[in-house]
Amino acid sequence: MIDVIPLQAFNDNYIWALRAGRHAAVVDPGDAAPVLDYLAREDVALAAILATHHHPDHVGGIGELRQAFDVPVYGPRAEPIPTVTHPVSGGDRVALAPLGVAFDVLDIPGHTRAHVAYYGAKLLFCGDTLFACGCGRLFEGTPEQMHASLAKLAALPDDTLVYCGHEYTLANIAFARQVEPDNAALAARARADAALREKGLPTLPSTIGREKATNPFLRAAEPAVAAAADRYLGRRAGSPVAVFAALREWKNRA
Ligand code: ZN
Ligand code: FE
Repeated sequence: MIDVIPLQAFNDNYIWALRAGRHAAVVDPGDAAPVLDYLAREDVALAAILATHHHPDHVGGIGELRQAFDVPVYGPRAEPIPTVTHPVSGGDRVALAPLGVAFDVLDIPGHTRAHVAYYGAKLLFCGDTLFACGCGRLFEGTPEQMHASLAKLAALPDDTLVYCGHEYTLANIAFARQVEPDNAALAARARADAALREKGLPTLPSTIGREKATNPFLRAAEPAVAAAADRYLGRRAGSPVAVFAALREWKNRA
């Protein structure tokens, strides 16, 4: 069994540490310091680094970690990350032998051009594509791409644990409630996640099932969500992709 531990970085980033015995891997180390502190404190050795996309808050610590640990660095083939040693893309498999776990690589473009996710052992590391009750901004991709990427993640089993790159959940929930004020699962989630944050705890991991029930960006085909998008646009969006695009624009301006 592997444990997944959140290491906080910057204001609201999570670097995810995967641990089995005395071995660890990290996902999206934007900063080396929290990782080096964790490894020293727990007396574990770094076995691998995984990156979901090229933004500095996800890859900025890799160079310094590599000076201390000569480990493989997996990351998207088609993004500019000079520190990647093992470029990957959709359909590849990343086997972390020291941890006894393997991940399938999923292409999930939209936030960035070649953003990837790592999925295995019922764990999903999805960077800045799917957030708890939200999704990443479209910096390099189209609404069509992001909508398809989110649909790919939504098709994973409901009990998949979702580890995102940021603690944005409460702000995302506030927006989701504007979209779906009558969603009872969303209201319950708002209470539960607010209570976690009051105790200083992460709202993550989420699950795919919870996201499907409460995340408006996965619910563009729901009549209530489509109606809210139509109200925002002042006309009929007409397709789930257009609903998704309207929600993304609305959230950007909210
Ligand atoms: Zn990003
Ligand atoms: Fe980020």
